[in-house]
Amino acid sequence: MCPKKLGMDSCGRSQRRVLPESASRAQQTLPPRLSRVNGWSKPLHGYQAVSWAMFVTLALAMFGIFIPMLPGMWKNIVYGVSGGMLLFHVIVYLVCVSIDPGEDNVRRKKIYSEPVPTFDRSKHLHVIEDLYCCLCRVTVSEKAKHCRACNKCIAGFDHHCKWLNNCIGSRNYWWFFSSLTSALAWLLCVVSILLYIVIQHHVDPRVLRTDPHYQNITSQDTWLLFLPYFHLKAKTPVFVTIAVLVLVLDLISLLMIGQLFIFHLYLSTLHPNPPPQPRSRLASSFPSCSYVT
Ligand SMILES: [Zn+2]
Ligand SMILES: [Zn+2]
Repeated sequence: MCPKKLGMDSCGRSQRRVLPESASRAQQTLPPRLSRVNGWSKPLHGYQAVSWAMFVTLALAMFGIFIPMLPGMWKNIVYGVSGGMLLFHVIVYLVCVSIDPGEDNVRRKKIYSEPVPTFDRSKHLHVIEDLYCCLCRVTVSEKAKHCRACNKCIAGFDHHCKWLNNCIGSRNYWWFFSSLTSALAWLLCVVSILLYIVIQHHVDPRVLRTDPHYQNITSQDTWLLFLPYFHLKAKTPVFVTIAVLVLVLDLISLLMIGQLFIFHLYLSTLHPNPPPQPRSRLASSFPSCSYVT
């Protein structure tokens, strides 16, 4: 199956496809005047905020509400395992976002504070001609590609990821894949814990009330949230609603990250070194060239 037919979203390599010139022009916005350095460079993307909000919400719910409900030693084990997984994910995510994926010559010679010239079709047929980028004004390697969103040449271009707001290339691909894998593993951990709690709530709710703070709670309809520091009381319907909402949020995240993981696993397994597209195709598509939007 051709990977281009998989129809991936903003983080998929399938978006390397070149849109028809007329359609692409209408859909594209102007590239930033200054080249972006990494995922922290402006303009920031709304998807970044969405992903942070989702992970912070899930982390708060898990570490504040649901893990403290686990019985006995399981609570400490899950704290350790789940916390370690999340910490690893945060580290590789931050590294991936912070890396400048630009070509060697771009990083060495390009002055990021200087505006990038506008592509002039009357002077150049292609953005990159004979391994020289007329916008970055440096020589580049064979697998480089000028990303419209970053407005610079990326080493071993893979795709531009809106969720990370950074290009993924040869310099940060390992960090990207590790970030994807660790996020998936943590989300699977979260869904397992939630399912256990939901099932146990129906089978034997007393198992979820072993924390010493429950000794003073006589009503079986009252639950304590954010133990052990806060003892926020909630009735069963509120507790069940929170559990269902968190489960839905986790499943949505799992679905999005899972399909990306499978797609990249497929590409790296069956197409470890995708052949470079003909230079003429890339260039003729400028300014839409591969610019993953
Ligand atoms: Zn370039
Ligand atoms: Zn980019």
